[in-house]
Amino acid sequence: MNNGRREPAGATIDLRDVAKVYRMGDVEVHALRGITFSVERGEYVAIMGPSGSGKSTLMNIIGCLDRPTSGTYRLDGTLVSDMDDAERAGVRLRRLGFVFQGFNLLPRTTALRNVALPLFYAGVPTRVRGEVAMARLAEVGLADRAAHRPSELSGGQQQRVAIARALANDPAVLLADEPTGNLDSETSEELMALFAQLNATARTIIMVTHDPDVAQHAQRIIRVRDGRIVDDERTAERPL
Ligand code: ADP
Repeated sequence: MNNGRREPAGATIDLRDVAKVYRMGDVEVHALRGITFSVERGEYVAIMGPSGSGKSTLMNIIGCLDRPTSGTYRLDGTLVSDMDDAERAGVRLRRLGFVFQGFNLLPRTTALRNVALPLFYAGVPTRVRGEVAMARLAEVGLADRAAHRPSELSGGQQQRVAIARALANDPAVLLADEPTGNLDSETSEELMALFAQLNATARTIIMVTHDPDVAQHAQRIIRVRDGRIVDDERTAERPL
């Protein structure tokens, strides 16, 4: 068992020679062909690449939804690439926050209860859940919408609730898959301002986007093509 083994403090995310091969009958699809990179705590990274380049596969591995065929993945020093399904589910719940293009909120449930849900699954006591969920909503500027259902919120507000939910268990990393894909350009800019604000409080963010304007908000852009990293560019100095 490698699960408890920890490396010396360092990168939050560390991938070494990660490959993923999908087998479809006799055909092998090499979705990732040796990906090596690390992300430090507090970094804000955009992943870009054409359709079919391996972005979703990479995010699924980083998000502990899938395992690499070969190579290693460490999250905060813990080797997660060897974990079984149940252990990875625990990592997803407690160490990772997910934001999706389609928000994925429960429709008949208030903003507060949507945000509190991951706290419930993590076994946080009822009294504490309400307080933490409210604090997360305040962090995304929606404390005054706590009692609203998703249908009573704009797209941008729904995505803010989804971000508050992703932050519920204070994850090591916020993973966002095309977070502005369903939003108009003005709302996208507002959301990017929120990401910048979260990043300024040392939150680590990894975001897949096809939109260069959105990617420019990150401090670092990793470009993938045919399952390989073809460029890893720093767009801004990291704040001290
Ligand atoms: P992107 O997100 O950049 O569009 P993907 O990671 O979805 O790229 O896909 C990378 C490659 O892996 C593509 O050739 C795709 O067809 C293939 N692929 C992705 N998922 C599967 C799967 N479950 N089974 C077989 N092939 C897959």
